[in-house]
Amino acid sequence: MKKLLCACLAALALLPASCAQPVEPDISAYDTAGTAEIPVEILGELEEDVLEDLVEAPKYVALTFDDGPRADTTARLLDGLLERGAAATFFVIGEQIPGNEPLLLRMKAEGHQIGNHTYSHVRLLKAEKDAVVEEIHKTETLLKEVLGDSSFWLRPPYGLIGAERSKLIRTPMIYWSVDPEDWKLLNKDKVVAVLGAVQPGDIILLHDFYSTSVDAALALVDALQAEGYDFVTVEELFRIQEVEPQAGVLYARPDRVRTWG
Ligand SMILES: [Zn+2]
Repeated sequence: MKKLLCACLAALALLPASCAQPVEPDISAYDTAGTAEIPVEILGELEEDVLEDLVEAPKYVALTFDDGPRADTTARLLDGLLERGAAATFFVIGEQIPGNEPLLLRMKAEGHQIGNHTYSHVRLLKAEKDAVVEEIHKTETLLKEVLGDSSFWLRPPYGLIGAERSKLIRTPMIYWSVDPEDWKLLNKDKVVAVLGAVQPGDIILLHDFYSTSVDAALALVDALQAEGYDFVTVEELFRIQEVEPQAGVLYARPDRVRTWG
């Protein structure tokens, strides 16, 4: 085709320089469908971590901590997360806030997300509607006093709220997809055993109220980072998955709504 074109252009005395030495390019090494493929011999020369970045999709997971803040355990957790470059989400109880304001400010400054876990850890499913609103509003007011205006997503205590009361909620609600039952086991190794169940996009439930949970959380971060996971806030997980969270909806993961069933 190119030769034919050169001949035509030559006939018209419009011969471009590239036609002077007609060389057919060897395109056999390229994928003509448009997808770039890295030849195996080049891949073999790359550093292992660079290679992993090239061939594996990023894996994101969200750690969530309920029932804090608690001066000693939460501070130690924040130290460990900072050291590891891991973000998390803290669903705090309003009653726990007075005296622990510096911990909330630290969470915000270090890139964590802060959410609402009611004022006194009530079962919203059975509470009067006025009490539901008050429990959430009281904590929200305290959070705004410390952290400024923001949307503080709700994690209903015990993950329970029900269809009726969920209509009162003006923020997204976050359940979880992995529950190691750390509050019951109170044993680092048993909690870390949940590792095999973690999938990209999961929301893991833990409690920064217990020292064993802090130990387990940091061990989980180390193990999952070694598997190539990145730790992000719940909000970031939704953004990464391009899901716009809706107010009054309870999510187990960005791609999974929790039904009331
Ligand atoms: Zn709780």
